[in-house]
This record gives sequence, C-alpha cells and structure tokens, in this order.
Amino acid sequence: MSASTAQSPSEFSNPNLEPLLTGEQIQTRIAEMGAEIARDCAGRNPLLIGVLKGAFVFLSDLVRAIDARVSTEFIAISSYGGGTRSSGEVRIVKDLDVPIEGREIIVVEDIVDTGLTLSYLLANLESRGATSVKLAALLNKQERRLREVKIDYLGFDIPDAFVVGYGLDFAERYRNLPYIAVLKDPSQD
Ligand code: 5GP
Repeated sequence: MSASTAQSPSEFSNPNLEPLLTGEQIQTRIAEMGAEIARDCAGRNPLLIGVLKGAFVFLSDLVRAIDARVSTEFIAISSYGGGTRSSGEVRIVKDLDVPIEGREIIVVEDIVDTGLTLSYLLANLESRGATSVKLAALLNKQERRLREVKIDYLGFDIPDAFVVGYGLDFAERYRNLPYIAVLKDPSQD
C-alpha cells in the first residue's frame, strides 16, 4: 500500500478514482432492465445465475427490480487474479448447486470485456440442457471483444478503461464503492 493511499481519508473519494457512472445512473438503468426482464419472463420462473464475485452487487439490485417469480444461484469463474488484464484462462471455481436441465437461465455478469469468460460459461450452461441461456450484463467494453457474445440485457457501454466499484475490484479492493470509477493508476494502489 502506498503512503498516499494510507493517508486517504475516504475510500469513496480516493484521488486515484475517476468517477464514470453515479449510483443514481446505475439504479435508474437497473430499474429499466428489471422491468424489461419482468415483462419477458412473466410466468416463466427463470433462474438468475450471478457470476461471482463481481456480479454480487448488480445481482442484488437487479433481482429487486424484477417484479416476477425468479430464482437465484451463483457460480464462480476464475478471472484476472490480482491484475487488470484477462489471462484468457477460464475455470469454474464454484459450480452451481442445482441441475439446470429444462430451466430458462439468465446469467448475470458485471462486465463483458474480451468475452472469453462469457462465451465459455454460456456454452457450458447450454451443454447442461438449459432450455434457454440469456445474458444480463451491467457493463460492456465492446472495443475489447475477442469472442462474440450476445448481451440480451445491457446496462451501459463503456470505453476501454479498467473500472472498479459496484462489485468490481482491483485486487479485491473497491467492490464496496456505490458508483463505478476508472482506476487511474493501478501501480499507485
Ligand atoms: P472477459 O472474459 O470478458 O475478458 O472478462 C470478464 C471478467 O473480467 C469480468 O467478469 C471481470 O471479472 C473482469 N474484468 C474485465 N474488465 C474489467 C474491468 O474493467 N474492471 C474489473 N474490475 N474487472 C474487469
């Protein structure tokens, strides 16, 4: 930890953060996404699968914006480790606790970057006999895409920058920010 970080009086107004999306913008968009999902899923009881850890904040707000019968599960996928760039390595670290054969699935993800993680995960869930597998993602970095992924419900398109907050971390830090920010200089963290 650098000296400047140690002296920072507030984590939420840390000078190494450049605010990108306010908590209010995020909540407004999630309310719209929830209403859309509720309309599409009326009477269908979809299973929302949150991708840990990053999606836990988004999922918790999204489910409360869906006025329809839904169930929730979690899966954990290996991603960046401590860095800021994808290794391209994909591994299920914590699997689902229930079979999903015959279920309508909505995968809930924090951010789609290269698309490597999601293309692997969506194919994996389809191979287990799910009736349909849709994707709800809060953020999308389209410029970084290496593997095409269809996002059925999208919060925001964002530029190619490393972002933190609202569940997204840098080396396990900043998941608790109530907004989304660009991390200006990871080496200063
Ligand atoms: P992909 O496989 O699409 O390249 O990466 C997806 C995963 O990488 C996300 O679920 C997230 O964990 C991580 N990731 C991608 N971009 C960012 C970013 O800007 N900030 C953070 N904190 N994680 C990211």
